[in-house]
Amino acid sequence: MKYFAKFSLLGLASASLSPTPILTGTSVPTSLGSFNLTRGAACACQKLSHYSSGVILPNGTNYTAETVDSYWDVRTDLSPACVFLPATPNEVAHALEIFDVCNAQFAVRGGGHMCYPGSNNIDGGVLMGLSRLNNVKVNDDTIEVGPGLTWYDVYSALEPRGRVAIGGRLKTIGVPGLTLIGGFHYFNNKYGYAMDNVISYNVALGNGTQITVNKDSHADLFWALKGGANNFGIVTKFTLKTYDMPNVSTTIQTYNESGIPDFMAAVCNAAKLDEENPIAAGMVASISYNVTTKAASASLLGVQEGSDSPPSQFANFSAIPATSRTNNVQTMKKWAGTLDSPKQMFRVMYSHKSMKPDPDVLYSLYKIWKDAVNEISDVEGLYPTFVTNVHAPGSARVAQNNGIGNVWGLEAEPLILWQFSTGWALAQDDIRVQAWSRQLTERLHAINIEKGLASDFVYMGDAGEWQDPFLGFPAENVVRMRDIRASYDPRGIFSRLNWGGFKLGV
Ligand SMILES: Cc1cc2nc3c(=O)[nH]c(=O)nc-3n(C[C@H](O)[C@H](O)[C@H](O)COP(=O)(O)OP(=O)(O)OC[C@H]3O[C@@H](n4cnc5c(N)ncnc54)[C@H](O)[C@@H]3O)c2cc1C
Repeated sequence: MKYFAKFSLLGLASASLSPTPILTGTSVPTSLGSFNLTRGAACACQKLSHYSSGVILPNGTNYTAETVDSYWDVRTDLSPACVFLPATPNEVAHALEIFDVCNAQFAVRGGGHMCYPGSNNIDGGVLMGLSRLNNVKVNDDTIEVGPGLTWYDVYSALEPRGRVAIGGRLKTIGVPGLTLIGGFHYFNNKYGYAMDNVISYNVALGNGTQITVNKDSHADLFWALKGGANNFGIVTKFTLKTYDMPNVSTTIQTYNESGIPDFMAAVCNAAKLDEENPIAAGMVASISYNVTTKAASASLLGVQEGSDSPPSQFANFSAIPATSRTNNVQTMKKWAGTLDSPKQMFRVMYSHKSMKPDPDVLYSLYKIWKDAVNEISDVEGLYPTFVTNVHAPGSARVAQNNGIGNVWGLEAEPLILWQFSTGWALAQDDIRVQAWSRQLTERLHAINIEKGLASDFVYMGDAGEWQDPFLGFPAENVVRMRDIRASYDPRGIFSRLNWGGFKLGV
């Protein structure tokens, strides 16, 4: 109540962008703790309160829904000074002007799935949630999508036309975050990554102007947005290619521990698959380990374009004795609808590195990981998973041949991205789990370096906060991105005032 009263004193009727004298420095209580009200945040929250959308303050009705319930990783629950939910791209642009004038720290949330504190939420600053920018327009072979949508929304909008877009593999991942960092889908081997399938971005820049970015307009920024994350502006609309695919052929398979060596071999073969006329197919391949029963099990969620069932591209997996195997032919919407990743699942730490496919070495990494999990088995709520993603040669060729490219600059050579996804329950274990995950990742990567198998590529979607994915991009691409950032964000709105996410640095 006290906090709201304070905002009321700040001259909410004034629509001017001039700095406002503010009472600052007071500790403001929230459900998660408290923050100190800064001059910048108070100024921005006051000015944003003039918009029809208004702002949500810590004592407001939807504050917890926006700052906690909208996030996947419990670690990302923070306490902003206020939450602004713009209703239009113009409001996004105006908010950016306000952040500059007020010198206010801010965070931006799309689908809320990036999993580390500060990547998409903020203590004491302004949180801009994009959920109201949820327009969708389906065209003949494209779809225009607001950043407030999930991939399930996109697949749902396309289902009546029998088409799919290249996006997220699970239901509730947000469109904007995934598309801006690259985007692993099932069909990368034929159609490239989500970023390679964006034909136009509407962008609000740090100075409050709005531009349309495509191959003919701001072509430099068009390239930089393909994998360059949140370093250049806020995307208020994505226009994506779509593909004719009324149905997909799916397979869900699970294996017990004895099948894991063959499972790793099948993952490596999937990475190496390089056909002249590829069939689009890909998967989520992961191993979970139960620290109580000491049982490990592997699982495959495989999807292939078309209606041939069982899907031919997973023959190597289908040859492994399975504990369960279900094949189906269905729409992408129906498939994605079964794969939820509920918000607030647990505290979670991602860590990952990449390697050339080598089944024996990959299997040995898994075994070291499993032994290491036993060392932290007393961590409450421990939920350890060893995940693999594949980059098949065809995935790189799309960017190599489309005249645009992307910031990754990957070669048409197979890679395995191996990752630990570690969930746990209590904040008191944060430092322990984070240190464990980092040290183990570095140890396994060192083995690959020694064997000549290591790659420097790090995908932002699988990385931990301790990792710098830009170090794995070609150095000249990073220099070019910094030049582009300097030209589109000369005042450093996305580097000085917005620190969360994977930042290019100085
Ligand atoms: C359970 C789970 C499953 C996943 N599955 C996949 C997968 O199948 N494929 C894959 O590639 N990745 C996957 N990921 C990783 C995922 O792509 C990233 O976490 C991604 O950032 C999520 O997007 P979001 O919009 O939900 O994220 P958010 O956390 O909302 O945003 C991520 C970052 O982008 C910024 N941002 C958001 N919207 C905008 C915008 N409009 N303009 C500028 N910046 C913006 C945010 O500030 C933040 O820094 C998965 C992650 C999880 C947790």
